[in-house]
Amino acid sequence: MKKYGFVAFLLLFLLLLPGLTQAAGKETHINLDGRALSLSKDEQVKTISNTVMVPLRLITEELGYKVTWANKTQTVTIEQGGTTLKLIVGSKTAQVNGKEVKMLAAPMLSGSSSTKTTFVPLRFIGEQTGADVKWDSDAKTVYVKSAAALSGNGDVSVPGKGSAGSSQGSTVPAPGGGSEITPATNQPSTSTSASLKNLSFSENRLILAVEGSVTPKVFKMTGPDRIVVDLANTSFAANFDSGLPLDSSLTGQIGIEEYPDVKDVRYSLFSSNPSTIRVVLDLTKAVNYSVVDNKDGLIIIDLNTSEAEPSQGEGKEGQRLVVIDAGHGGSDPGAGSITNRNEKEFTLAVALKVQKLLEQESWLDVVMTRDDDTYPTLQKRVKLANDLNADVFVSIHGNKVDANPIPNGVETHYTNKNSQNLARIMQKYMLEATGLKDRGLKPGNLYVTKNTKMPAVLLECGFLSNPTDEKAMYTEEFQQSLAEGIVAGLKEFFGQ
Ligand SMILES: [Zn+2]
Repeated sequence: MKKYGFVAFLLLFLLLLPGLTQAAGKETHINLDGRALSLSKDEQVKTISNTVMVPLRLITEELGYKVTWANKTQTVTIEQGGTTLKLIVGSKTAQVNGKEVKMLAAPMLSGSSSTKTTFVPLRFIGEQTGADVKWDSDAKTVYVKSAAALSGNGDVSVPGKGSAGSSQGSTVPAPGGGSEITPATNQPSTSTSASLKNLSFSENRLILAVEGSVTPKVFKMTGPDRIVVDLANTSFAANFDSGLPLDSSLTGQIGIEEYPDVKDVRYSLFSSNPSTIRVVLDLTKAVNYSVVDNKDGLIIIDLNTSEAEPSQGEGKEGQRLVVIDAGHGGSDPGAGSITNRNEKEFTLAVALKVQKLLEQESWLDVVMTRDDDTYPTLQKRVKLANDLNADVFVSIHGNKVDANPIPNGVETHYTNKNSQNLARIMQKYMLEATGLKDRGLKPGNLYVTKNTKMPAVLLECGFLSNPTDEKAMYTEEFQQSLAEGIVAGLKEFFGQ
């Protein structure tokens, strides 16, 4: 499956080649906070199926992010000030602080064989770093205005603490005339097609009253979580609700107290050319929304959307409870690895990483069968999960078989029929996260999967007896990726 995906990706890549060559023939430009970045031949901006793709490392490093590349998992990790973005080449799903985010197009590799460059949709850069991004197709230029530079202009789009932004950005002078990213001024251009008359937040809905024609662009941003509504070619109406604050720089804010998910609503003239109003809902956690726009003068961003159905269809209300079981421990070292390390060490390291990630999820509670080097009996582990009436039990192990040739890869064990779906999902994510061989699902009668009442799986996350698997398994990178895969699997299982 893994192989097939790669071949498909390669084919797609080859199909796109003529277009790429053409685009590469013309020189493109990236302008960051008024500075022109120098682009190598491999870093030229590409347009693929109407999606503008930009070199990831170049831009994010300029924005002050630390970028690391894991060849084995084809994963790019971008970090800054408590925000971690993880992107996998060929996958439209990125992770932002462990939460999944869909991208317009999957990250792709391009360039000569020795130095590959990862490209991502320009819009992803904008949404995840808080930068304002634009593509001028005539000038073949991408304009990026960093969150830090935007904050210098008092813009509402600036993320709060722990978010992205170049530390140098604010010292870079704003670009002069002729640039596409003229800072907002108090003089909106006259070429607007709509005006904002009023806005309010009630019944967990943001309601914008507009006059004229405008199609809102609504998207989520993270670090901190917020929902952003951009109204292009729109200005504040002359009779904008006098009950709402709007200062001389055309910025206002309303505190929200009745709804725990929403802290406040901020609004401002985000750009004066073209005149764009940006409305931001500051959230206390990531929430889903739906947009109602019947072109009747009211645009509604409704946060009352129902959560996705749990894939088990059990219809259980409230918090989910997950029991994570680090295999072996204490007096039971588990399998010995080919370099004489113990399985119990590997399982605990991964389990603790899973715990750390799950603790960031507000919709579930996590209970560990052990969080140090001790040995609870198998009976105790099962009893814990059953007594707690847990929703899911995940046991983490490393494999060992003395055979020739030495086997390698990952497999998921389960016993009861109610565990089949969980097993299928976990195997899929484990494969993606580790890049190891697919050994498939293993129905069987292991004690912990047989005697737990809830969906339960035992993950064999690679072979400690195989030199290649083992070498990866004790690395921080592999363990973190695996932990994230397990968490992503649980999210899919619960429909989160
Ligand atoms: Zn084991």
